[in-house]
Amino acid sequence: MGEFDLIERYFKRPARQADVGIGDDCAIWTPRAGHQLAISTDMLVEGRHFLSTVDPARLGHKSLAVNLSDLSACGATPKVFLLSLAMPRVDEAWLAGFSRGLFALADAHGCELIGGDTTQGPLNISITVMGEVPVAQAILRSGAKAGDELYVSGTLGDARLALEAFRGQISLPQAVWEAARLRMETPTPRVALGQALRGVSTAMADISDGLLGDLGHILQASQVGATIDWPASQGLLAAAASWSCPEALAMTCVLTGGDDYELVFTAPASARSAVQDAATTSGTAVTRIGQITAERQLTVQDAQGRAIPHSLRSFDHFS
Ligand code: ADP
Ligand code: MG
Repeated sequence: MGEFDLIERYFKRPARQADVGIGDDCAIWTPRAGHQLAISTDMLVEGRHFLSTVDPARLGHKSLAVNLSDLSACGATPKVFLLSLAMPRVDEAWLAGFSRGLFALADAHGCELIGGDTTQGPLNISITVMGEVPVAQAILRSGAKAGDELYVSGTLGDARLALEAFRGQISLPQAVWEAARLRMETPTPRVALGQALRGVSTAMADISDGLLGDLGHILQASQVGATIDWPASQGLLAAAASWSCPEALAMTCVLTGGDDYELVFTAPASARSAVQDAATTSGTAVTRIGQITAERQLTVQDAQGRAIPHSLRSFDHFS
């Protein structure tokens, strides 16, 4: 099967919102009046972000999910995406599974594949996603203010827990392992929550590299600090009791575990009920975990307000 047959068979579908979709030298697409483009790209490399043994449908899902997560973090609505794919050979079973998982998530968000590039090489998946956001309403990392409250969506640490189990560092009850593995392999981008927080949240980021690290980016950009209330944050543990793992490991997973694709965001105390409304309309749990401080430090504190020492760092590909 040649390059063009492969594209035709697994990736080309009738254009819906694009003026010109797959098949021409450029795709042509027109955003709605009064909107700005929100654009992001994310690459997944075999051996670095996933193993060759992963289910291709799950990999298709995750490749797009990590990109949709970036749009969510800015409060944007996903619209179209490009797929650049390098693979060692044409494996039709792999392509069928990959495109199935990819399109299932794409269709769930009305996000259309409008082009890409296909080449031979080590397995490497790069997606560029584009969304719309009403002019000047994108939620950036730079808007947090001292006194704002700090929130996280969903649960944290599950993907890291799965990774620890995968590496044989811990052994988990079967059901816990299955659930954590699903979170690692098929993360849920918080698209509806991100949009619902437009006009409510002052700063937001998605958690791809760990809470402390990604919150750190917000603090840096906003020139503020934060205090994380550890007892409140423990509510983020998916099922802490069932994990049956030491507290220190649970803490590492929650505070520094990457790959969860939840949202960390800030909002003024006066917006508490608006945050709850956004959580309810989007059907996404939200936990208040601390506050933003003028003092530029990131502190994790216990129930008595004592700082818990941590030398926990988030994931960095080059450190
Ligand atoms: P060009 O040679 O101009 O770079 P290609 O021959 O690589 O274009 O691709 C032909 C068409 O197929 C283009 O419209 C391109 O966007 C699309 N395409 C190529 N690879 C993919 C892919 N993996 N997924 C979706 N569309 C693709
Ligand atoms: Mg090309």
